[in-house]
Amino acid sequence: MQMAKKKKVHLKYGVKKFLAYFIVLLLILIYAINEGKKLHEKDLYEKSYEYKLIQKKYPEAEAKKLAATLTDENLETLTKEKYNEIYYQIVSEKYYLNKNFNKYLTYYDNHPYTELSKIIALVNTRADELWYTKPEKTDVEAGYLMLVNKFNYLEADYERIDLEAFDLSVSYGSYGDNKAAKIVVENYDKMQAEVKRLFDVQIMVTAGYRSYSTQQEMFDAYGEDYVARPGHSEHQTGLGIDIVSPRHPSVQDFFESEEGKWIVENCWQYGFIIRFPEDKEDITGYDNDALHIRYVGQTDAKKMKDEHLSLDEYYAYYVIGDK
Ligand SMILES: [Zn+2]
Repeated sequence: MQMAKKKKVHLKYGVKKFLAYFIVLLLILIYAINEGKKLHEKDLYEKSYEYKLIQKKYPEAEAKKLAATLTDENLETLTKEKYNEIYYQIVSEKYYLNKNFNKYLTYYDNHPYTELSKIIALVNTRADELWYTKPEKTDVEAGYLMLVNKFNYLEADYERIDLEAFDLSVSYGSYGDNKAAKIVVENYDKMQAEVKRLFDVQIMVTAGYRSYSTQQEMFDAYGEDYVARPGHSEHQTGLGIDIVSPRHPSVQDFFESEEGKWIVENCWQYGFIIRFPEDKEDITGYDNDALHIRYVGQTDAKKMKDEHLSLDEYYAYYVIGDK
């Protein structure tokens, strides 16, 4: 049997000394690199907009959010001014869009007593501009959410192919030639049946689809104050209809009637929204000369109702967004 030999490695004194020096040097080097990094980070931070804003007396949370949100150009401007709480308030608004920051500010400068949420809504929907300024072609690809208003138009040749007449046995009293998109007629008939069941009243459709040329005729006959410009009428989408209650022929009475209130509360269940709410006149550009409802589909209708948004606002924020 062979004994295992214990082999001890004896390092020479010189090598040991060298290793000790080496380790100490290494530690010093690591420390130096670390300190250098810290200095570099500090240097970078002091060049950041967050830091510069804090130097301008912005609270840290505000400085952080502004630096993370605004463009360098806007931040550069802010760092040259005194602290102003308005910037943080603007970017914290629920429907804030970064692309509109300068427009919000301009509007605010000219109307400092307007509520911020209103400024956001006006600018997002372009209602801060004169009606019909630089109108854009409606994106019909948006389907049931397509936006037709004073800034978005349908071309003369846009026609719906799925138009259907209202069932006059259901919608008794409606103007006989009213049509709308199939899905509108289906849902309206269901809603109308429910209104009839609950309140024993027969809601009538007083206006449905209108072609560009029909709109043109109306426009020529009644003028700009009463009728939307051709191409700018929601009725051309085939998704909007005007309704009236024979019991309450005036719009105001209709809104205040039990059937009117029920429709305002429940029309989302049938995919409809109140297209021109009373308190959104400055955004939609329309007051209610009829109860105009618009089909957008149940999910979006519910969301618009819950968030109290007009289609114009909803479209600007949720469909287009910061593009
Ligand atoms: Zn209408």
